[in-house]
Order: sequence, then structure tokens, then C-alpha cells
Amino acid sequence: TTSVKAYEYIVLGGGNAAGYAARQLVEKHAIAAHKLAVISAESVAPYERPALSKGYLTANPPARLPGFHTCVAAGGAPQTPDWYAKHGVDLLLSTEIVKADLASKRLTAKDGSQYAYGKLLLATGADALHLNELGMAGAELDGIYYLREIAEAEKLYEAMKANVNKHAVVVGGGYIGLECTAALVANGVRVTMVFPEPHVMARLFTPQIAAHYERIYAEKGVSFIKGTVVDSFADEHGSGRVRFIRLKSGAVLEADMVVVGIGAKPRTALFDKALAMEARGIKVDEHLRTSNPDVFGAGDVITFPLKMYGNRMTRVEHVGHARQSAMHAVDVMVGASTEPYDYLPFFYSKVFNLSWKFWGDTPPNAKTIVAGEMNPKLVAVWIDDSGHIVGTFIESGTEQEEAKLKELARTRPPADMERLEQAAAAKDPDG
Ligand code: FAD
Repeated sequence: TTSVKAYEYIVLGGGNAAGYAARQLVEKHAIAAHKLAVISAESVAPYERPALSKGYLTANPPARLPGFHTCVAAGGAPQTPDWYAKHGVDLLLSTEIVKADLASKRLTAKDGSQYAYGKLLLATGADALHLNELGMAGAELDGIYYLREIAEAEKLYEAMKANVNKHAVVVGGGYIGLECTAALVANGVRVTMVFPEPHVMARLFTPQIAAHYERIYAEKGVSFIKGTVVDSFADEHGSGRVRFIRLKSGAVLEADMVVVGIGAKPRTALFDKALAMEARGIKVDEHLRTSNPDVFGAGDVITFPLKMYGNRMTRVEHVGHARQSAMHAVDVMVGASTEPYDYLPFFYSKVFNLSWKFWGDTPPNAKTIVAGEMNPKLVAVWIDDSGHIVGTFIESGTEQEEAKLKELARTRPPADMERLEQAAAAKDPDG
């Protein structure tokens, strides 16, 4: 019979949430040696994933491991494999779990090895959506890049260096598309972005905010093809490398490389039948508990109640949530907290020498005011039906300004419309 390694706690996943969960168990709860295993399909210890589209591609010298292992973003030293060893945490890398039996509380890896847990934290995150999974012709050609894991970042980096003064098509107008475009441009690659929406970052940006960023991109030579999607890819003379990008609009673009950033899909497959699901994610309650009492969840893979917004169920693919939910789930799991998880949505991005941050909510019929109050910076607020500020945005804010805007999103005061409109009129950021 197969031997089973038993742990009090298993963290399944080796991404952002897993790294912060391990740190919380070690540093806050002083977990005893060999009570915890972190099991990851990746070949490297947990790292700060956002670095892959920022420092990894653009910094000089470029960011490389071990420099951005978790939890450096929280000010800690990088948790290298030595850190795990030193604290008696079994870090099982390149170990993909292919079966989860929640009744016998066992996980089975691809190589047949088995792991038993007392309590399990699911932090399996999300995968990039791939065009070949959607059955697109030519999507399997070489020269088409995605960005979710470090091996992909390395391939993209190499391609970028090999295509200086050449041309890339970036598919997708979200933050992955925007950050990769900025990296390509900074490395001397010409970029055309293609996306179906009327402007970049359509899920968050208002037309006015988007125009501000599109202008900056256009000044750097980036062109945009909006309102259409890719139909198929083709190579030239049977080279096996992508060369032509046919759009649904009928146009055909030529490129030396393609980067695709069209969204992500939560990795729930192991639990689709065993656990309650909602909105494509694993459903958890306000204590980050799944429908199984010994199984908790954190990060991109969970659908959870947003306490601030009447417990509206949501799934969030942002690193701030991955970190906070992981630490919170650990506190609940070890019996140290009975508080509900109370997350203030937060999102940031960095492109060129700019960085922007957003806090709060963007209700569908919110009124948005882009105010020049803190000009020359771009500042925006979202105001809901009842006249309260619910979302705030700032580009390149100081620590104080950011703290203020975060507080506004958290406390949701009534908006002083007169003052905001004056500020907006006084300094139109597009003017
Ligand atoms: P992940 O970090 O995806 O980790 C999941 C882990 O689980 C992986 O290690 C995976 O291998 C492992 N796993 C999955 N299934 C199994 C299995 N069956 N067996 C073993 N292991 C398994 N967010 C922001 O807020 N700001 C940003 O600027 C930003 N930039 C980003 C840039 C890039 C390029 C990417 C890809 C993401 C970015 N994000 C950003 C999003 C952020 O990185 C994610 O929200 C965060 O990583 C989610 O953490 P997670 O632990 O839930 O999942």
C-alpha cells in the first residue's frame, strides 16, 4: 500500500496566497515543525506574482528570484526554500495534486504520493485563459505568449529581447495587456493592441481615465485596434511561427510575436463536485470556510461575501485580496479569529514610470468625477445613487494622498458635489 504523509495543515497551491498563509502560520502562530505542508505544482517557492509583468520584464537589472519570493511586498525577507526548511515547513514543489478526497481528507499527487490533512487551505488560484482552449485556429503556433507563471515570464523576456525594433501584437486591453505593452515598448518593441471594448481597462476605467492612459501609450508609439477580436493566427511558409493575425473585422496584421492577456479562469476542477461553487469560484462564507468544515479557501479561486457591500458574493483576482484572505483564513483555521473577512477592494498597476491605485466599488450606474484637485495627478471618485463616494482612484499619489483616498472608499462619506465639480472644471486632466 502507498504510504501517506500526514499533516495538521496543508496549503494547496504555491502562489501569492500560499506564501502569505505559510508566513502567517510560522510567524504569527509559531506552528511546530512538520505540521504544515505547502504543495505546489510550480517548481519554485511562492513568489509575488505581480512582479512578472513589472520588474521581471522592465527593471534594470530585471527582478529575478530569489528577490521577489513572498512576502517581500509586505516588507519581509524573501521566503526561499531555506526559509521553509528552517521553519520545518514541508515545501513540496513540482507536485501537482490530481485527486482530492475530502471524505478521507487525502490528496493524491500525479506521481501517486498521498497526503492527509487535518485542515486544508485551498489556494489554487487561476490560470490564464488560452486561445487554443477556445479552439482558435493557429493558436498553437510558436511566438504566442501568455503570462501567469515564471517560466512564461522568462520566455516572454527572451522573445522581447529577440524582437527589438520589431513588431508585437498584444491581444487584450486589460492590465496584463497594458503592463506587457509597456514592457515591450520600454524594450524597443513596437506594439499594436487589439481588444473588443471601446477603451483600455474597460472594467474599471471610465472613458476619461482611459483616454489619459491611451494618450500616454500613443505618445510612445502604441497603436490601438478597438472593437474587434482575433479570429485566427497563421504562420508564413509553414514556419510554425506566428506571423499573421486575422481579426474578426477582416483586417490582417503582421507581427513577430504575440502576447495574449484575455483573462483568467479559477482552478477549481478538483473540487467542482465536492464543494459548493458560485460564480465560477469555490464558495466560502464570511470566515473563508468552504462547504466542507475542514476546508478553507483564499485568493483568486474563492467566491466570498464582501462585508462592506451587504455581503455581495464576489470573486477577486487581485493580489491584495490573495494576501489578506490567506492570512485571515489561517487565523480562522487555527482558531485564533472569529472575525468575518472584511475586504476593501483594492487594485493597482504600474506602467512606464506611472503607477495607479484604486479602492472600493464601481457600481454600474455610478457617477464618476475626474477631479484635478491634486493635480497634476489624475484623481477620480465614483459616486453611487445615494450620493456617497464609493470608489477612489489616484495616479502616482503620495502616501498621504493614498491613505486619504483609501479612507474615503472605506468610510463612504456623502460627496461634496459642488467642490468636486469645481475641482474637475478647474483642471481637466485632458486639457
Ligand atoms: P496564484 O498566485 O495563481 O497561485 C496558485 C498556485 O496554486 C500556483 O502556484 C499553482 O501552481 C498552484 N496550483 C494550482 N492547482 C494546483 C494543484 N492541483 N496542485 C498543486 N498546485 C496547484 N494583482 C494586483 O492586484 N495587482 C497587480 O499589479 C497584479 N499584477 C499581476 C501580474 C501578472 C502577470 C499576473 C499573472 C497577475 C497579477 N495580479 C495582480 C494578480 C495576482 O497575481 C493574483 O491575484 C494572485 O497571484 C492570486 O494569488 P493566489 O495564491 O490565489 O493564486
